Amino acid sequence: MRTDVGALALSIVPELPEVETIRRQLAPHLEGRTLTSVEVLDPRWTRPLPSAPIEQALRGASIERVGRRGKYLLWSFSDGQHLLLHLRMTGSLLFDSPTEPLHTRVRFELDDGHRLVYVDPRRFGTGFLVSDAAELEAYLLERIGVEPLTAAFTADHLRRMAHGRRAPVKAFVLDQRRIAGVGNIYADEALFRAEIHPLRAAGRLSLAEWARLRDGIEDALAAGIDAKGASIDDFRHVDGARGSFQDRFLIHRRAGESCPRCGTTIVKIVVAGRGTYVCPNCQRPPRRRRAVSSPARAAVL
Ligand SMILES: [Zn+2]
Repeated sequence: MRTDVGALALSIVPELPEVETIRRQLAPHLEGRTLTSVEVLDPRWTRPLPSAPIEQALRGASIERVGRRGKYLLWSFSDGQHLLLHLRMTGSLLFDSPTEPLHTRVRFELDDGHRLVYVDPRRFGTGFLVSDAAELEAYLLERIGVEPLTAAFTADHLRRMAHGRRAPVKAFVLDQRRIAGVGNIYADEALFRAEIHPLRAAGRLSLAEWARLRDGIEDALAAGIDAKGASIDDFRHVDGARGSFQDRFLIHRRAGESCPRCGTTIVKIVVAGRGTYVCPNCQRPPRRRRAVSSPARAAVL
């Protein structure tokens, strides 16, 4: 079957479940280990900061915990430093790769003889080192909003954030500064689960609808984590394997197929510049506003 290659190229960004999958796989290999060497082969990775001081600061640092915030992987060191890795579009981390892949950007050597490489063909991924918890919180506060799958992620909080917003609810869900970690795939899946049309104005959703959407986001993310993420193009596990969530999409990339809930044909539209999949029956489109004063104008003419 032919697929829409243009759309594929647009939505390969790892989202929360893909990053969480990597975190779970990396943690047992990294936690408690010391970095004996870090070599940044591509200075773009640490830009705008120079790479050499970061290599130096990480050498000999002991990894206490591998965490995640939104789409950031967060390595926390026993000396108080934190390294924030963002994979962006095509970044992956490979543990003990038998050969060094093309597009290797960073090499990490561990004190137990194992090694990890960061590979990124398109070079958008970043590594940012902060020296303490306060700096970390300041960095994240500017970039990411409420974290799904935590107690703070409530319908009430979402509704308050969306108050007065006319932007489509899908754009609101995709905005990392409001909700951390949800990208194009999981936004479509969540809105479908909640039976909310992506073009509805965020500020017009009722509290009950936000409650459904909150649940939809959490259920879609949990299903993604359960399937070890979706691999559409470049996403790989740390051992090079692929996730399987792409086979379990309810709506995303299923244009022309039947809605799993009602059987209506799924359609593809564009919302916030992104290919978006909806069931026109389960997700009722917002009512169109009538053009103002057309009868009056007609009378004058
Ligand atoms: Zn339907």
